[in-house]
Amino acid sequence: MILKEGRVLDPASATDEVMDVQITEGKIERTGPGLCDHFPDEESFDCSGLWVFPGLVDIHTHLREPGYEYKETILTGTRAAAAGGITSVACMANTLPVNDTAAVTRFIREKAEKEGIVEVFPVGAATQGLKGEQLAEIGFMKEAGIVALSDDGFPIRDAEILRLTLEYASRFNLPVIDHCEDLDLSRGGVANECATGTRLGMKGIPCVSESVVVARDILLSQWLGVHVHIAHVSCRSSVNLIRWAKEQGIPVTCEVTPHHLSLTVEDLDASGYDPRFKVNPPLREAEDREALILALKEGVIDCIATDHAPHDAQSKMVEFQIAANGISGLETALPLALQVGNKAGLSPSLILSKMTVEPARVLGIERGRLSPGKVANLVVFDPHETWTVDSKRFFSKGKNTPFEGWTLNGRIKMTLVKGEMVFLDENNPWGIPPFCL
Ligand SMILES: [Zn+2]
Repeated sequence: MILKEGRVLDPASATDEVMDVQITEGKIERTGPGLCDHFPDEESFDCSGLWVFPGLVDIHTHLREPGYEYKETILTGTRAAAAGGITSVACMANTLPVNDTAAVTRFIREKAEKEGIVEVFPVGAATQGLKGEQLAEIGFMKEAGIVALSDDGFPIRDAEILRLTLEYASRFNLPVIDHCEDLDLSRGGVANECATGTRLGMKGIPCVSESVVVARDILLSQWLGVHVHIAHVSCRSSVNLIRWAKEQGIPVTCEVTPHHLSLTVEDLDASGYDPRFKVNPPLREAEDREALILALKEGVIDCIATDHAPHDAQSKMVEFQIAANGISGLETALPLALQVGNKAGLSPSLILSKMTVEPARVLGIERGRLSPGKVANLVVFDPHETWTVDSKRFFSKGKNTPFEGWTLNGRIKMTLVKGEMVFLDENNPWGIPPFCL
């Protein structure tokens, strides 16, 4: 098939031009102008006025299966990903059982092979049961197909255990993704530590509870010469530390979420402490949000990751203090990120690089690029269509979004995984009945 005359954006090759993309047997065959004239027998899709770019790579997704199928499954989570233009997801290990053995890794991979409609790359737990005490079966999990290690949901508290994890991980060429939180400083906290929360009698989670662990991780990374990836950076003090680390040549990378780029504690306040705004790390202040956006621009932040955390209604529709943390983010990530970029004067290519080639590089997977010979994971996107977020229409089981009712710009029209159409929007320009596999 040929995607005809779309604006092709491939950050990896600094491509931004109108041309055709030909796909054969799951791979990108060639790109260039006028391919339809050379290959008149190929099925073609007119993409004029639309963008064509590599399928997004989400380095931080919670698919919830096995164990929490009432929140999400590999099927529903990967359908949500496809609808959001995300063709590769790295799924976190905090399932039940925890993905800390090769058997669980194999289960996830086999299930994803059978039922998943985008590519699933499992992340193995760093420690058994995410307890931070003993290392998990790192070597066996690597053989079974994990692409990274993380105890996400929890920090690795014990610095010696983190050191061992980093040393082992580097031997297996696996990045370690650390959820940075000092649990003593954040204990009992439910939202960012600030005046409003205090007034309402809520215990705060100060920025320093994140940054103090970011600092520790950077120093360990420097000492060992081993890569550390910092999950969901939320505040200015962390960004400043990571900027310093990168200036020193320390092998640190990091990610930020669309919600930390889009919202602040003021939004939480205005919502009347709506549990849909409850997330860990918490929404911070305007100066933090500004620092995150600047860090994207400067390259201090490498990736935009959804931290997709779907929950059942019961876990969220309770008092703020006891509500579960997290946002169902796969289906809103791209338009939110582009919107932030647009307002801050960041180019679509820069935003896309943080959601394609950069996360693929951190994970060490051959994805997130659009050039001949690469896997045909592609997205066709209408940058002009506006739509209103309606969680009832999410493919994800998780309806927990603080963006309900928001008007967003830009809509996924078609998603291809290995050359196969897995998602087609209801309002597509080709007159084909919509579907999501
Ligand atoms: Zn986390």
